[in-house]
Amino acid sequence: MTYPLARTRLEAQLYLEVTPCECGHLGLDARAEPVRFEDGTPGWRYAGVCAACGRDRVYVFRAPAVSQEVSTPDEVVYGLGGTSELLDPAQWLWVAQRYAAAVPSNSDSVPEAERATVRSWLMAAVAAVGEIEKFVPDDGDSVPASAFRTRGGQAWYQRDPHAFRADSLDDLRMGYERRLRAMRAGAPPRMSRERAARVTSANRIQEQWVERHGIDDEEWVEGGASGPRRRSPSPAQRAELTRLLREAAGLDERTGLSLDDPVAGLAAFRQLIGEVESRWAGDVPQRDRRLGVALSAYRAWLAAAGLSDEAWRDLLLSDRVWEVPRVALPAADGVWEMVRAARAAVA
Ligand SMILES: [Zn+2]
Repeated sequence: MTYPLARTRLEAQLYLEVTPCECGHLGLDARAEPVRFEDGTPGWRYAGVCAACGRDRVYVFRAPAVSQEVSTPDEVVYGLGGTSELLDPAQWLWVAQRYAAAVPSNSDSVPEAERATVRSWLMAAVAAVGEIEKFVPDDGDSVPASAFRTRGGQAWYQRDPHAFRADSLDDLRMGYERRLRAMRAGAPPRMSRERAARVTSANRIQEQWVERHGIDDEEWVEGGASGPRRRSPSPAQRAELTRLLREAAGLDERTGLSLDDPVAGLAAFRQLIGEVESRWAGDVPQRDRRLGVALSAYRAWLAAAGLSDEAWRDLLLSDRVWEVPRVALPAADGVWEMVRAARAAVA
């Protein structure tokens, strides 16, 4: 089974918002969990319960090999490169209109404390129109009918094809951008020193990586090499960059989870168990041996720290690890040390 690509978590969240439950209810409060597929590629799993009918709803998405999470306080980015696999152009227009409608028409009346939120709605509206514009072919002046995958989208297009013309979209986006600029008139947002340092360091890591591997396709995205002499990164090279960027950002190199968060550490342990279960599914003795050594590392950690896992054992084993209360856990360092020990034992 091939799962659809969610370029960013923002995009995945929007998909959950525009995709109704079987009962027709829109919206889902879901928990995201990073997953890794059997071929080693990363993904996200969202699970929640429909607020209207109580059905369990689970959605699994592929993640890009290199993170596209590049939104900043000044720009919302749902994804780099090509068109969305999750939302069709009409769904993006609905998103844009809904965000813009939430913004008061007189932006001067927005209290200071709410300005950042209101600006983020306009940034989301601008980005959503940008996503529709990606569906317009280079040599075309309108989104083609074939781009509308949903029944609602097709109906909207038939009702109002004009809304999906390149010039209409341009007008719409510029209108949102004007409102956004008007709200920026106050103090310009400043990047914090730590954030600036992080961005600089990430850029340096990427530059060195580009140099090391002779990659000259600057706009590289998955499948994005163009021109006769461009070199796009191989999957191994992409993985190397991801690892280096995560390391520099204080994230676990394998999962991208935060090393400062004990729950994230426990989630990484749960993920390790899941990996063993799926990887050695066809070889039960090997699987059980590896599960055994992983669990010994876990128990050794509990014993050494004088801990009981009573408060979270059930959540851990039932795949609801993100519900473990943070206060129930000891410091993140110890949890991650256990994860490393378990990984080494399983390898
Ligand atoms: Zn429902």
